[in-house]
Amino acid sequence: MASYMKDKAGTLKRIENFIHDKHGFYDCCNLRGRLHPKRVPVIIRHHAAVGRVTYDEAIAGQYKPASVGDIFGPTWSTHWFKLDITIPKDWEGKEIWLLWNSQSEAMVWKDGKPIQGLSACPDDYLRTDFILTRSAAKNEFKQTLYIEMACNGLFGAGLRHIIRPPDLHKKFALTQAEIAIVDPMVYDLLVDMEVMLGLAKHLPEQSHRAYEAMLAANEMINIIEIGEPKTYERAKEKGASFFAKGNGDSQITIHAVGHSHIDSAWLWSYAETKRKCARSWSSSLLMMKDYPDFTFACSQAQQYQWMKEDYPSIYDDIKTYVARGQFIPVGGTWVEMDGNLPSGESFVRQFLYGQRYFRQEFDVTCREFWLPDTFGYAPQLPQIMSQSGISRFITQKMSWNKNKFPHHTFHWEGLDGTKVLTHFPPGDNYGMKGDVDEVMKTLNNCEDKGRIDNLLFLYGYGDGGGGPNPHMVEKLKRMHNTDGCPRVKFSSPDAMMSLIEEHESPKLCKWVGELYFETHQGTYTTQSQIKRENRKGEVLFHNLEFISTLALRTQSSSSLKSNAYVYPADDIERMWKLFLLNQFHDVLPGSSINEVNNDAIVYYKEIQEKGQALLNGAISAVFQDGKGPLVNIALNGLGWSRTEVVEVGRSDEPKTPKQKRKKMKTEVPQTGRKLALVTVPAYGAAKVDEETGTDVKEDIACNATVDKQTESIVLQNRLIEATVDKIGKVVSLKMKSNGRECIDGGCGNQFVLYTDRPASYDAWNVEHYHLETRKEVFEVIEAARIVEKSRLRVEIKVNLKISDSSNIIQNIVLDAESPYLRFNTEVAWHEDHKFLKVEFPVNCRSDVATYDTQYGFVRRPTHANTSWDWFKFEVCTHKWADLSEYNFGVAILNDCKYGFQTSENVMRLSLLKSPKAPDEVADMGNHTFTYAILPHENTFQDAGVIRNAANLNNPLIVKPINGVKESLLNVPFFQVDTDSIIIDTIKKSEDSDNAIIIRAYESFGGTCVATITTSLRFSCVHSCNMLEDVDPEEIRTPNKTSIAVDYKPFQVKTFKVKF
Ligand SMILES: [Zn+2]
Repeated sequence: MASYMKDKAGTLKRIENFIHDKHGFYDCCNLRGRLHPKRVPVIIRHHAAVGRVTYDEAIAGQYKPASVGDIFGPTWSTHWFKLDITIPKDWEGKEIWLLWNSQSEAMVWKDGKPIQGLSACPDDYLRTDFILTRSAAKNEFKQTLYIEMACNGLFGAGLRHIIRPPDLHKKFALTQAEIAIVDPMVYDLLVDMEVMLGLAKHLPEQSHRAYEAMLAANEMINIIEIGEPKTYERAKEKGASFFAKGNGDSQITIHAVGHSHIDSAWLWSYAETKRKCARSWSSSLLMMKDYPDFTFACSQAQQYQWMKEDYPSIYDDIKTYVARGQFIPVGGTWVEMDGNLPSGESFVRQFLYGQRYFRQEFDVTCREFWLPDTFGYAPQLPQIMSQSGISRFITQKMSWNKNKFPHHTFHWEGLDGTKVLTHFPPGDNYGMKGDVDEVMKTLNNCEDKGRIDNLLFLYGYGDGGGGPNPHMVEKLKRMHNTDGCPRVKFSSPDAMMSLIEEHESPKLCKWVGELYFETHQGTYTTQSQIKRENRKGEVLFHNLEFISTLALRTQSSSSLKSNAYVYPADDIERMWKLFLLNQFHDVLPGSSINEVNNDAIVYYKEIQEKGQALLNGAISAVFQDGKGPLVNIALNGLGWSRTEVVEVGRSDEPKTPKQKRKKMKTEVPQTGRKLALVTVPAYGAAKVDEETGTDVKEDIACNATVDKQTESIVLQNRLIEATVDKIGKVVSLKMKSNGRECIDGGCGNQFVLYTDRPASYDAWNVEHYHLETRKEVFEVIEAARIVEKSRLRVEIKVNLKISDSSNIIQNIVLDAESPYLRFNTEVAWHEDHKFLKVEFPVNCRSDVATYDTQYGFVRRPTHANTSWDWFKFEVCTHKWADLSEYNFGVAILNDCKYGFQTSENVMRLSLLKSPKAPDEVADMGNHTFTYAILPHENTFQDAGVIRNAANLNNPLIVKPINGVKESLLNVPFFQVDTDSIIIDTIKKSEDSDNAIIIRAYESFGGTCVATITTSLRFSCVHSCNMLEDVDPEEIRTPNKTSIAVDYKPFQVKTFKVKF
C-alpha cells in the first residue's frame, strides 16, 4: 500500500490529542482515557486540626464523614483525612493508585509514617497519585491511610498573583478521592509517544529524525485499537525500534539530577517549610526504591536538621540513600543564603556549620557550592568556598541578567585570585520537567559549545518544593541514548564536574570578579529592619566571641577550676544557626511575606537578648574582681587602638530646662549625657576617666565647637569643619589640614525621594526609570538647632517633612577627634512605592567608585558607557563607599545599609523602600540608622576609611565594673603591625577548649608581611581552613606570642592557636 502525504501541523495535533487531550474531546477514544480502566470512590472521614499538629495528635482527633466536593480552609489551616480503602476483589493482581486532589499540598501517612507528598492547584496537575500497590494481593484489599492536607499551594496563597500578600480566607475544594486500576502498558505508550512528539516538535525543523519521530508516533496511533491490548504490544514494538537508534560519539552528555528547590521561607512561613521538605523529600525517597538510578541533589543543612528533629523516619531513609549515592547532599552551607549582604564571617559560618553538619551526619564533605536562586554573588565567594573544602560552584540565576552572560561553564576567579570551576545549567532553570524542549534548550543555549561535552540538567518542581515525579524520570529514560537528542544520564553534580575537571578544564574561559546580578537591586534595601538586625547581629557575634575567648583564656589560667568560665559554645552555635537561617535568600533580601518577616524579627530579638547577656557575663568574667569601687571601662572589639568619645550614662541631676540653663550658663539645651574621651588599645579595655567628660578642662586641644550664624550652623573639631543650613543640608565640609572643600554645589546630605514602581517583583526590583522621578525633601518641620555643645561633642537636630505621614528627625553630630561627621537618623516611614535616598555631590572626579565587600572591596564605574556599566545603577556595598581622585577622596559610611549608587560625582546611599508585595506593610513604621561622611587625603586605604567604617559599626562598649582587674586594662590582647591586615574573628576552636581561632585578612589589596601578636602566651600555631581543618605543619614562631605571615592581596588566613 502506498503511503499518504503528511501535513506536519495536523499530524502533530493528532498525536497530541491521542496522548493528552486537554479539552477532553477525545477522552472516549484516545489512549489517555484508557490509563485507568476502572475507578471506585474512597470512604473519607475528616478532622479539622488545631494548627500543624503531630501525627499522634492528629489521629486522636474526632473524625466526621466527608466527601468529594467538600470545601476546606482557611489558608494555612490543616485538615486530616482518614481513608478507609477497600480494593474490589476482581482487582487482584492489578496495579492500583490512589487519586487525590485537594487543590493544595498534602502528605500521605501510612502506618504512622509520612510516605509521599501530594500537590495540586486549580490549573496545573503536579502530583495527584499515590501507588497503593504494584500488584494487589488479598492482604492489601483493606487499607487505612491518613492524609494531612495543608491549606496552601506550592507557592503559598497569594491573592490573585503568587507574589501578592496571601489571601487569608482562601478555601480549598476536595475534587478527587478515589482508587483506580492502572494499565502499565498504556502508561508506557503514553510516555513513549510524549517523548516522540517532543522530538518531532523540538529537533531542528529540517532534521530527518524529527520527521521519523512524527511518522513513527503516527503509525503507532494507526496500530492501536483502543481496548485491544494486543495492538498495544505491537505499537510498543514500533516505539522501541524508534528509540533503539542510538547516538553518535560526538553527542553531548546531559547529567540529569533530580532536585527540589525549597525556599526555607518565602511565600510561606518557616513552619510550613518543614512540612514542604517532608512532602518533597519523602516523594523522592519513595522513587529511589523504584528507580535505583534516580538521583536527587539536596542542599541546606538546616532543612536536613528539621527532618532529623520532626520526621525521624524520613531522616533514616535519607541516611540510607545518601550511603547509596542516590540522595546527594550539596552546597555545604547551612542555608542557601543571600550572596551579597552577609559579612565575610557570616559566609564562613554558613560553610562551617553546613559542612560540619554534612560530615557529622553523612560523612560527606560537599564539593559543590549550590546557590541556584540567589541574587548576585560577591567576589570573595571563590576564596571562601575554596577554604571550605569546595572547588566548584553551581547556579543558574545569572540567566536573569539583562546582558547575556557569556559562559555556562568557566573558571570563576575571585578577588584574591582563587578560581572555582563554575557551571550554570544551560536550561536556565533548576525546576525542569524532563521534557524534550528543555533537553534541547540545555544543548542549544550553552555558551561554551565545542569546549565541553557535559552539561547539568536539574529537574523537579521547585521553589515551593515538590521535586521530581516518576513521569519526569520516565521521559528522561527515553532520552538515554536516542539519536538526535543529547545523551541523558542520571548522574550527580560531582560526577559531572569531575568529568569537566578531568577532560575539559584547560579549554574553559575565565570570569574575574563579582557575578553582578542585573535585577532585584531593591533587595539591598527592602525590609530595612531585617538588614539592620543582620548588621547589628554580626557585630554582636564578633564581640561576643572575642570577649568569650578572652574570658576562657584569662580565666582558665588564673582561676580555680570550680568557678572557671565556661565558653558558651552551644549557645553561640545555636544563635549562629538561627542567625544564618535568617540570611536565607528570601528573608535577608526582604522578599518574603509578612509572617516570615515577623518570625525573623523574633529570632533576631532572641539572639540580641541572649547575646547581650552572654557578652556582659564574659566582660565581667574577664575584668571584674568584685573587690574595688564601681568604675566604667570601655572595651574595644577591633584590632587597633581607638581614641573616641563615649557616653557614660546620663546625669542624675534634675533636668528641668530652667535648672539646666542656670547650671550650664548657656542657652543651648543639653541632652544630659555624660561624655568622656577615652583611648582604648586594640582588642582591649581601658578605664573611662569621667573628668575629661562634660566638664572638660579648658586647655584640651581636641575641643569640638558649634556656632550659630544667620543662615547656618558651623560644627568643627581639630580635623574638619562642617556648615549646615536650616534644613540640615551640609553646604560645606572642609578638611582642616588643607582647607579643601569637599561638597560640590553646597548640597551635601540632601534627602531625595523617588517613585518606585517596579514593572514586576515589587519587593525585589528597582528599575532604572525610578531615577527619572527624583524629588528633593526640603520642607522643614523644625529647623536645625543646636542640642549639644559640650567640648567633646557638638550636635544639631532637624526635623524634615517627607509627606503628611512621614518625616525625618536627624541629629548631626561631630565628636572631638572624629574625622567624620555623623548623621543619626530616625524616619517615620508611611509611604507607598517611594524610595528614599540621601545624596552627597562631592568635589571629586573619578570614573570608578569603591565599595566595601566581604574581606575587601570592589570597584564599579561611575558612568554608563556600556550596558554592563549602566545596569550597575544600584549596587551593593557594606560599611562604606568611597570616591577618590589623586590624593583626595570622600567616603560615606553607614551602620546598617547596603544599597548605593555613585553617578559621576554624586554619592547616593539608599535608605528606605516601600513595596507592597509580598509584604503589604514592608518597612512601614519607624527606622533608626546612622551614616557619616569622611573626607580624606591620600588613598582611602591610607586614610583609614576601612577602620573608621568599622569603628562606626562597632562602637566602644562602656560597662560599669565592680572592682576592676587593673592588670588587664590597657593591654592589647590581639594586634597586628601592618595597617592593611584586619584581625576579623577571634573565637574558640570548634574542636578544642584549649585552642582558639584567629582569622585575619588583607584589606588594602596589596602583598605584605604581617606579625599578629597576642598577649596570651600560646604553645603552638597551625594554619587551618575555614572549616578549622588543620594543616599538620606547625607555623614557626619567633616567640610564643606572635605569628609572622605573608599575605597576598585580599587573602584571608585562619590560624589555630593552641595553648
Ligand atoms: Zn529560592
